[in-house]
Amino acid sequence: MTEKRRTISVGNVDIGGNNEISIQSMTNTKTSDIKTTVAQILDLEKEGCEIIRVAVPDVDSANAIKEIKSKINIPIIADIHFDHRLALRSVENGADGLRLNPGNIKKKRYIKLVVNKAKEKNIPIRIGVNAGSIDRKKYEHPTPEALVDSALNHIKILEKMNYENIKVSLKSYDVNTTIKSYELFSNIRDYPLHVGITEAGDFFKGSIRSSIGIGILLYKGLCDTFRVSLTADPVKEVMVAKEILNSLNIRQFGIDIISCPTCGRTEIDISKIVQTVKERTRDIDANLKVAIMGCAVNGPGEARDADIGIAGGKKEGLLFEKGEIMGKYPEDKLIKLLIERIKKYEND
Ligand code: SF4
Repeated sequence: MTEKRRTISVGNVDIGGNNEISIQSMTNTKTSDIKTTVAQILDLEKEGCEIIRVAVPDVDSANAIKEIKSKINIPIIADIHFDHRLALRSVENGADGLRLNPGNIKKKRYIKLVVNKAKEKNIPIRIGVNAGSIDRKKYEHPTPEALVDSALNHIKILEKMNYENIKVSLKSYDVNTTIKSYELFSNIRDYPLHVGITEAGDFFKGSIRSSIGIGILLYKGLCDTFRVSLTADPVKEVMVAKEILNSLNIRQFGIDIISCPTCGRTEIDISKIVQTVKERTRDIDANLKVAIMGCAVNGPGEARDADIGIAGGKKEGLLFEKGEIMGKYPEDKLIKLLIERIKKYEND
């Protein structure tokens, strides 16, 4: 199988090949509640979400896509199960992509209608296989082989209709199963991969499971777009997604803050300084390494290596910039100067 996966486009976002890894999320509002859904999508956009998926369980939701789309700025994917009419309606209303498993639509002619509509509008379909929803009569356990086989069955239906504008996901709650599924699949087909650990849990647990699973897949080059699934505000999904990409130096969001864990030597409030700096520099995307260190043991070394840094002392600290000591200041002034210096780089 080729190293590079093929490229597809969801609205104005190109996926696969050498394109940037994109961040997705999904709304948890009723899609038919246009006002609330738009507000949530705009919040997600502000945080950095690049593709949004909405559930389409009924006609009102499919109809709502038209107005929602006119008020947002990122591509919208309609998530459909079983009912081809909802897919047709969503596409007519401007959906930039469908998440739909053709094998779950009973009649072939209905699938054909959806495929023809997708071809006409040149929009992709994501085949999304989840461990929890594979056919248990056919597969005893949600093994990687079962997930991949299930995905291939859906894919073959589309391929027989000469439709290959496809993206694939093979999600499981189990991190090992998920990784093995993507490994297995990528040896068989070169469709772009949407990645995630499904039903990963609340903010704490879900972030960790997702970081490990998605992180490993990113490291192996087996991810083109991903969603961190959390039982939480979806804005948090995007925050975690950005940090995963930052951690692997794949993309850079915000500034890179290095902070010491603090210990018995700490005599300034490192936690408060970190939170204040994070809050005040939230909107700055700059390739800038900022070290916030508690004392003279590791502090000066890290602070010197960073673009800007502080090394704490007793209610005071040294401020470093580009390896040079800029001065020694009391704690309050130190925070103020640190933020001022960071902001200087904003438009550089
Ligand atoms: Fe402790 Fe200093 Fe290390 Fe921070 S930098 S953890 S204060 S030794």
